[in-house]
Amino acid sequence: MTETEELREWDRRYFWHPFTQMQCYGDDDPWIIERAEGNYVYDTEGHRCLDAIASLWCNIHGHRHPRLDAALIAQIGKVAHSTALGASNPPAIHLAKALVEITPASLQHCFFSEDGSEAVEVAIKMAAQYWCNLGRPEKHLFLTLDNAYHGDTVGAVSVGGFPLFHAVYGHLLFPTLRLPSPYVLQWEDCEGDPLQATTAWLATLESTLQDQGSEIAALILEGGVQGAAGILPFPPGILAGAQRLCRAYEVLLIIDEVATGFGRSGKLFSCEWESVEPDLLALGKGLSGGYLPLAATLAAEHVYAAFLAPFGETRQFYYGHTYTANPLACAVALENLALFAEGAVLAALPGKIAQLRAGLQRFHGRSWAGEVRQFGMMAAIALRDPRTNAPYPYADRVEYAVCRRAREMGVYSRPLGDLLTIVPPLSVTAAEIDIILNTLYDAMAEGRS
Ligand code: PMP
Repeated sequence: MTETEELREWDRRYFWHPFTQMQCYGDDDPWIIERAEGNYVYDTEGHRCLDAIASLWCNIHGHRHPRLDAALIAQIGKVAHSTALGASNPPAIHLAKALVEITPASLQHCFFSEDGSEAVEVAIKMAAQYWCNLGRPEKHLFLTLDNAYHGDTVGAVSVGGFPLFHAVYGHLLFPTLRLPSPYVLQWEDCEGDPLQATTAWLATLESTLQDQGSEIAALILEGGVQGAAGILPFPPGILAGAQRLCRAYEVLLIIDEVATGFGRSGKLFSCEWESVEPDLLALGKGLSGGYLPLAATLAAEHVYAAFLAPFGETRQFYYGHTYTANPLACAVALENLALFAEGAVLAALPGKIAQLRAGLQRFHGRSWAGEVRQFGMMAAIALRDPRTNAPYPYADRVEYAVCRRAREMGVYSRPLGDLLTIVPPLSVTAAEIDIILNTLYDAMAEGRS
């Protein structure tokens, strides 16, 4: 038995993987990534793959960036962990300050946690407690969207809109009010017209706020695209219109930029496209450049102020984990922000986004491809069975086979339902964008015409 075979055997036997049907996990030989360098990952057999999904949409500058490695090593030489309960640490202090400085101006305080779901949990609990602290506990409902994904913890699933998760965990979830997905509204009810869709969606939001605004704590929206639902971009004006209406009806606006933050949209934060200044902002994924689990919830001054009281009153925020504001993660995140501050990463994005858009054209009209969608440096291509012009039956796992084929050809992608996704490191080069597009094209087309 080779070392890889032994690892595969133990992986199947002991390692329960996330979002995975373990009975079938062993059908394919588990793919075990041993190391990575730049935009490439290497498996235990030395096979190299271009990472077209930035690990899980988080390795912004690729892998093993010398500056991020150095920041981590320097911090290990000082302290790996210290609690944020009753103590502080320099990287966390600098990072909180830096995040307040670079996020929309409304946001003045930074609360750390470990992953995107938690950044959302924090925002939900802050919004709920904000209204309680102000003596208005009747404002307890959350307004959310069909198809929303905000994470997999109980609160984050509650404000999410995936029917499957609600079917399984419904009895654990708190009730929410649900609005239509702006993308679905645009294409199902408004013949694709973005202006009409935005007007219709905002009218629905306003009538909900008129009817029930007095009971609504917050509206939560992803940052301009429903990512995990299949990269469903919002028509323009949704975020700005939502902010205007939330202010008019005294409802907090939570923007979840876990997926869109740190350059993915083409700007540092997606809120910037429509000059949106939310009351709460959830960040994760790219915050530590894909190095360590770190997330943050940024809060506006009025939100923070509602938690202030003399010692002993029950206004303080009840949240905090063992690893909150971990100095290693914060030190790497600071260096990640320093890389962005130098400007070259963001300056290169318009060209890369345009190249991706142009390259996606060739998938249009293919018998084996359905919708092609893009939002900044994220794209999805639907795989279609040419015989039926519909997705392949889920159980056939054809998308997995296509991704496996792409991997054999040297490109690492991941299926998302019936979609193949392209969410590369922002450091991807022009030549590598072509390689990703060509390889996925060939892997999808192979044997299908
Ligand atoms: N919010 C959004 C918009 C996301 O895309 C995700 C993850 N895909 C999350 C929250 C949850 O983040 P995590 O997986 O780090 O908990």
